[in-house]
Amino acid sequence: MTQALAGTAALVTGASSGIGEATAVALAEQGARVALVARRKDRLEALAERIGGGALVIEADITDPAQAQHAVNSAVAEFGRLDTLVNNAGVMLLGPIVDAPLEEWQRMVHLNVLGLLYCTHAALPHLIAAADRDPRSVADVVNISSTAGRVARMNSGVYNATKFGVGAFSESLRQEVTTRHVRVTLIEPGATATELAFHNRPVILEEMAKTFGGIEVLRAEDIANGVLYAVTQPRHVAVNEVLIRPTEQER
Ligand code: NDP
Repeated sequence: MTQALAGTAALVTGASSGIGEATAVALAEQGARVALVARRKDRLEALAERIGGGALVIEADITDPAQAQHAVNSAVAEFGRLDTLVNNAGVMLLGPIVDAPLEEWQRMVHLNVLGLLYCTHAALPHLIAAADRDPRSVADVVNISSTAGRVARMNSGVYNATKFGVGAFSESLRQEVTTRHVRVTLIEPGATATELAFHNRPVILEEMAKTFGGIEVLRAEDIANGVLYAVTQPRHVAVNEVLIRPTEQER
């Protein structure tokens, strides 16, 4: 069977675990060559081995604009093009706003917002060029937001702010580039079993267990399926927004 993404190249940020890892695998299974970007090189190398030929390991901290640019440049140098950018890397550090450690806010804003912006800025000229070329004449920016980008909750204020920001930026970018056949898709996962929660302080983890402890959460592959659905549509179809919650998640 023909692979939907044969002849294309993708870059996935945060590919060393969770949703990014599953998405990289899904894109590669459809024939894309995939650049795997994150800080943990050993994890990326293990994934590249699992994927087999066509995966490129790029160790980068995308909160540094120079490293984000270098990651995109390395992918284009290796593949000769870039058709799909998946802005997935993110961090979620929850807790009250009063007396919050500012360092946690800085980490979220630097990665969830600025890192995504830096990668998008670096990738756009290549995506616009790919949208004018065989084999697909269309390119994709996929931004991984969250249900937290649609619904604000107590103890999630700054994470909410970053993900609402991703939504606003995505819509503005969509209006700017869609007639050039660069599609912009916002993916909004609900609770998904990954490493994301485990960066929180122990007291916060206890609170989270009360909210999500009893439900059957999503798997990273469930979100990767949503990404794949969007980027494998025909050229005239743009899937702008995909909200995926565990069935048992109420809000
Ligand atoms: P993980 O913690 O498993 O993955 C986060 C990824 O981001 C890792 O690969 C990590 O790699 C990478 N990363 C962290 N810091 C940097 C950095 N400075 N530069 C480059 N890469 C970095 O969590 P998820 O897979 O769950 O998260 C992926 C996205 O999904 C995030 O944007 C998150 O907000 C979103 N999301 C997740 C939900 C969930 O319930 N899991 C729900 C809704 C949205 P490394 O440490 O090697 O750099």
